[in-house]
Amino acid sequence: MSTQPMRSTESVLGLKCVICGAEYSVGEALYVCPKHGNYGILDVQYDYEMIKERISPQTLSHDGRWSIWRYTPLLPINSLTLTQLRKNGLPIHPLFSVGWTPLYRSHNLAQELGLAEVYIKDDGRNPSASFKDRASAVAVLKAQEFGFKVIAGASTGNAASSLATMSTSLEIKTIVFVPAATPQPKIAQLLVYGATVLAVEGGYDEACDLCLAACEEYGWYNRNTAYNPYMSEGKKTAAYEICEQLDWQIPDRVFVSVGNGCIIGGLHKGFRDMLALGWIDRVPRLMGVQATGAAALYDAWIHNTDPLDMTPIQVHTIADSIRVSLPRDRIKAMQAVLETDGAFISVTDEEILAAIPTLARKAGVFAEPAGATPYAGLVKAVSSGMVAPHEHVVVVVTGNGLKDVASASKSVGALIAIEPTLEAVKAAVL
Ligand SMILES: *Cc1c(COP(=O)(O)O)cnc(C)c1O
Ligand SMILES: [Zn+2]
Repeated sequence: MSTQPMRSTESVLGLKCVICGAEYSVGEALYVCPKHGNYGILDVQYDYEMIKERISPQTLSHDGRWSIWRYTPLLPINSLTLTQLRKNGLPIHPLFSVGWTPLYRSHNLAQELGLAEVYIKDDGRNPSASFKDRASAVAVLKAQEFGFKVIAGASTGNAASSLATMSTSLEIKTIVFVPAATPQPKIAQLLVYGATVLAVEGGYDEACDLCLAACEEYGWYNRNTAYNPYMSEGKKTAAYEICEQLDWQIPDRVFVSVGNGCIIGGLHKGFRDMLALGWIDRVPRLMGVQATGAAALYDAWIHNTDPLDMTPIQVHTIADSIRVSLPRDRIKAMQAVLETDGAFISVTDEEILAAIPTLARKAGVFAEPAGATPYAGLVKAVSSGMVAPHEHVVVVVTGNGLKDVASASKSVGALIAIEPTLEAVKAAVL
């Protein structure tokens, strides 16, 4: 029996504007809805009947690709692109090991919080040590499919370092725009991977606008979150993994940190895909956790503000990855929370810092501040009675603690300096 290899992009029907609902073919719109400018984010539409013929929980149970590529029929990627990459001598490349990050079941945390089950999804285990790899992998393949030689992106650090990692040795030049105050380990990571790093005076928002203008002017492929429609598609794979790793027992809630809102929107998309395919019969409540000093979406949710009416706010938080003044993916993020009957939660920097050692000591996961933020949100949700004791919750840790050692150090006590003698050891620990 011989069948043609599936060209997975065939399952993409088109792109739909989240504001006006206008639909475009893949060739008609590269990024946003022409009628709505930079905010007219497009959502990729799929032919679920076609996908159903290609993939199911049953076929997945035999799939040996322990990465996001096990879900290729659900991605806007031509599977031949992947096959070609392997043929061209890239069987082992960070692109092929993005995703399928561990989902730990933590009895310690469940006990501490008085909940039935607490699972920690450690996305810091991705090749560049953050969740962003899920999107960057797709970005780099799309750039190749569309024939771009240069890919650019603005980032608080992780999207950029992830892009640099994913484009390694693919003959695609990477230019990134980061805020001047990006933590040094993220900058070092970028430079080591060979990206051209432009540290922009100002914050993430300035970096984002400049990247957009530069891409237009110089014809580079733009990876910017909530502008490039394919980033949510990469990020949605975490939702598939959560369900598959839980053997299709759907959790009650998923907690995740929110900056631009692309991750939470992506998770929502992933759960909706599985609902459309009939793999699951309900979607977990999505709980978006923000830092009090950068809580634009939380505020809008509390005040019933339309995402389109939101305006930039002053931001200040230790969690640099979610230090965003006007969330770019706010429409999808708000939908994710409203349509799943979830909530936004805001937590202080102190609560975020406290979550870092708790996650490390009770679940063995070292998180950067934004990665620990959803756990701080869970603690708050439990103490305010929002979560019931019988619930099963998943906490998505989006970035590794080594990304921001300076902040991690603030969350713990000092080391003990001693003389090289047994007496000194005894005095210190016994
Ligand atoms: C980017 C990022 C986030 C936030 O994702 P958004 O899509 O901007 O909401 C959270 N945590 C980490 C570690 C990140 O890098
Ligand atoms: Zn539109």
